[in-house]
Amino acid sequence: MTEIPRQITLQEWDQRYEQLQRAGLYQPDYGGLLSRHIEDGDTRLSKLRYDNSAAALRLWNFLLTEEDRLHKARAEGKKLVGTMKDLGTIPVMAYSLDNLVAFYPDGAWWIPCVMELNTSLLRIADQLGIDESFCPVRAMLGAFLTGGHFPIPDLLTCSVGATCDDFSAIAQRLNGLGYAILWWEIPHRRHPEPDEAAVKLPGGFRAPKCQIEFVESELQRLKTAIEELAGERLDEKKLAAGIKKANIVRSYLAELRQLTFTAELSPLPALEVLIAEMLAIHFCSDQNETIVVLKGLLEEVKTRVKAGIGFLSPDAARIFWVNPVADLQVMNLLEDCNGRICGTEYLFTHALDIIPQDLPPLEALAQMALADPMAGSSIDRASRICADIRAFGAEALLISRIPGASHCALEGQVIGEIVRDKLDIPVIEIEVPPLTDSMRPTLRNRLEALVEIVLKRRKK
Ligand code: SF4
Repeated sequence: MTEIPRQITLQEWDQRYEQLQRAGLYQPDYGGLLSRHIEDGDTRLSKLRYDNSAAALRLWNFLLTEEDRLHKARAEGKKLVGTMKDLGTIPVMAYSLDNLVAFYPDGAWWIPCVMELNTSLLRIADQLGIDESFCPVRAMLGAFLTGGHFPIPDLLTCSVGATCDDFSAIAQRLNGLGYAILWWEIPHRRHPEPDEAAVKLPGGFRAPKCQIEFVESELQRLKTAIEELAGERLDEKKLAAGIKKANIVRSYLAELRQLTFTAELSPLPALEVLIAEMLAIHFCSDQNETIVVLKGLLEEVKTRVKAGIGFLSPDAARIFWVNPVADLQVMNLLEDCNGRICGTEYLFTHALDIIPQDLPPLEALAQMALADPMAGSSIDRASRICADIRAFGAEALLISRIPGASHCALEGQVIGEIVRDKLDIPVIEIEVPPLTDSMRPTLRNRLEALVEIVLKRRKK
């Protein structure tokens, strides 16, 4: 019999875990009680609510064991590639070779939240002159210096050009501290001139052909470095196979998102959707396991949709969410306020789009890199958001600002105005720091007000 979907606490997960174990739950080697991660200092976990499925348990355990996985990979002789400011390009290349593991040092962004500021990471960043006027990604500096989170990679890459000021400054500081970085450039994506050769990118943006050729030449440099590190050639056949595998992840996520955002009852909570989407960027340091984890989650969602079961009532307000939240707990808060996620743009929609398989592989990856919503203008980004809002039938837009983030100062306003003009739906902006405990009543008020407006508009 299908289990009724519920959001449960960490404590309740312990009981549920015993129940699943007795029922013969299969556990991968990283499996186990979710509450054990508290011992690693991940104290925020005790304040979240989780989906109660075995698939969600596996998703969370997979996410929370990434550091162990990286240390194990190194111990097994694999080479580690840290892909900074890279949302899904270099990892596809790295995972095309068996002895490389790519990871995303920028993921340290969430450490201040998950460990509830109980680490020295932000203090170290402060001491290095990267204070709270920068976005929480500054925690990455501390993670490099302490070596207490991810292992220092054998190759560290970072994209420049169409990159936020925060990350440019932080990566340069890291470089100045002696960490060698292989820089590569993604230019600001501009609109093609009327008579210029141009290409429609996956996701719908257009770019001049010469910009794609430039990015492809940059990727060629990276390919050479990756081959040297791996001691193995990354020929077209291997890269094409790597792209095909990355597309399995993307197609699972596309189906998961489509079902989750459009089903009558929300079949998966907003928090688990966010975690699942993040796997697209760098596969949480294990591409094969990402595929298995997402497959399990998708099966659970399909089962729930088929059985007509899910979260909240069918009248829950359908919210499109822009930007990831620094405090994961805010995703739970949305559901507390009778809101459900119906579309997302967490800064990496291009990492969810299918990579073309009918092009030379490096050209296909160059197109994907340029399709990054953040590589072009805010107007472009807003147009994609509008298209996705229409496609998923969202009734309101919520833009969560990231404290200190250079692109958030005005971009939210630009996006909000365009969406209001084009779609005539309510828009709110909230700011979400790594811990929102002290401002929870204010956030709740704002979310409740948004939900109320949506429900009132339905009656008109
Ligand atoms: S400023 Fe924005 S894009 Fe840049 S690292 Fe921070 S969250 Fe990411």
